[in-house]
Amino acid sequence: MSTVPPILVCFRNDLRLEDHPALHAAAATGRPVIPVYLYCPESEGRWAPGGATRWYLHHALRIFQEQLEQLGSTLILRSGPEALPLLQQLMEETGATEVYWIRRFDPHTRDQDTAVKKALSLTSFSASLLREPHEVQNLSGGFYKVFTPFYKKQLSLGDPEAPLAAPKQLQAPEQWPRSEALEDWSLLPQISWDSGFYEFWPQTAANVEDWVDRFLAERVGDYKDERDFPAEPGTSRLSAALHFGQVSSRSLWHEAQSRGAALGGLVGTEAWTRQLVWRDFAHHLLYHQPHLDWHPMQEHFADFPWKENDEWLRRWQQGETGYPIVDAAMRELWTTGWMHNRCRMIVASFLVKDLLLPWQQGALWFWDTLVDADLANNSFGWQWAAGCGADAAPYFRIFNPILQSKKFDAQGEYIRHWIPELKGLSPKQIHAPWEAPLPPRNYPAPIVDHKMARDAALEALGTLKK
Ligand SMILES: Cc1cc2nc3c(=O)[nH]c(=O)nc-3n(C[C@H](O)[C@H](O)[C@H](O)COP(=O)(O)OP(=O)(O)OC[C@H]3O[C@@H](n4cnc5c(N)ncnc54)[C@H](O)[C@@H]3O)c2cc1C
Repeated sequence: MSTVPPILVCFRNDLRLEDHPALHAAAATGRPVIPVYLYCPESEGRWAPGGATRWYLHHALRIFQEQLEQLGSTLILRSGPEALPLLQQLMEETGATEVYWIRRFDPHTRDQDTAVKKALSLTSFSASLLREPHEVQNLSGGFYKVFTPFYKKQLSLGDPEAPLAAPKQLQAPEQWPRSEALEDWSLLPQISWDSGFYEFWPQTAANVEDWVDRFLAERVGDYKDERDFPAEPGTSRLSAALHFGQVSSRSLWHEAQSRGAALGGLVGTEAWTRQLVWRDFAHHLLYHQPHLDWHPMQEHFADFPWKENDEWLRRWQQGETGYPIVDAAMRELWTTGWMHNRCRMIVASFLVKDLLLPWQQGALWFWDTLVDADLANNSFGWQWAAGCGADAAPYFRIFNPILQSKKFDAQGEYIRHWIPELKGLSPKQIHAPWEAPLPPRNYPAPIVDHKMARDAALEALGTLKK
């Protein structure tokens, strides 16, 4: 055991060396630093990591372990039902007297974090958002429920804190405590449904940096014009890296601003950094209203007459609704663990407004299949689509999946990529194949008629008391 007590740095959704104030502060003490990752899915209830998230987490941990090893350190892995006893055990084994970590705000991990805070000597730091939820207050000291004033307030507070450099060195303890083996956590699937994931996601941290670099150098300028077209590589695809904290949103903000400024202030940069503020807004809302993961923000929606239909749910999940843009998106999700934002809005609207199935069922499916599944962003996105959340698309504004398809995938490139059965159809036919003179036999007929479904949704809405 080291004579100078080491510091445990507990990593959560912040698997990075750069802009990590907890690691930075621990390194600055000159004391031995023991990096730790605790896996306690049982304590997260319904929102324990889903299949796709576990897959990404496995790779993110492996990459991070390698990064720490390059600094002469390592990542100690421990798992169990609760974080507190695991930390207490580690402190006993190593003689560590303090724990450092970065604060997080999701309700499903709050009790666990509070228990640690109460029992141990914990120093916590800010770096998971541009600004923490309590820092952005309206004129009466409350929280915001609408994005635009939240955004204006964020901008009025100036740039978020500048990111910190990665530590150059980490003092190792005299003896490392035992670590569990990552492979023993079985985060990767037993039945291999993940082959498409390997093609799609960067496999090394160096690639995440390259990814950021390439996006900011080549794409961000056109972001405003191209972000809505799923066949284009118009968005950053950094959502999983942001969720697991392989890169901090503060670093991205500063990097994007300085490059944008160097190029004369790009409209695209501003549009993109605005998305980082949407991320903060989703976390702000869930922090202040922790029930939003399951309960509608507009309370009268609790009485909405949702349907129960397992067969429709299955067809939506498997991309067999007969609406090509919906099915292409659901197949993209299944194959890659990711879906374009425009398509997330289309498929979510289709589930709740065309099929009248509860938004929570969609949120659960996304939770299991998205590599970037994030409780704040996912709950916010689903409530928005269902028309019951903050800044929500009003329920009576119902996406028409055929018009959305014609507008955002005019040539049908995205559809053809994900639905080979429709390859032979022209751009005119591909959005509504049932109207083609010879509809493909191996593609399903539409699950519902959109016009009738729209009327049914409006009727259901009419039953709600405001
Ligand atoms: C129904 C629904 C569910 C969603 N579920 C999730 C989820 O589980 N996890 C998730 O990260 N995002 C979710 N989103 C938001 C958004 O679709 C994704 O963040 C985005 O598609 C990720 O792609 P990107 O990294 O290329 O985004 P970019 O367009 O490059 O944006 C950069 C970053 O900004 C943030 N961001 C962008 N749009 C939003 C938004 N609308 N709300 C909050 N943050 C945003 C993300 O962190 C994203 O990585 C959901 C949206 C909807 C409509």
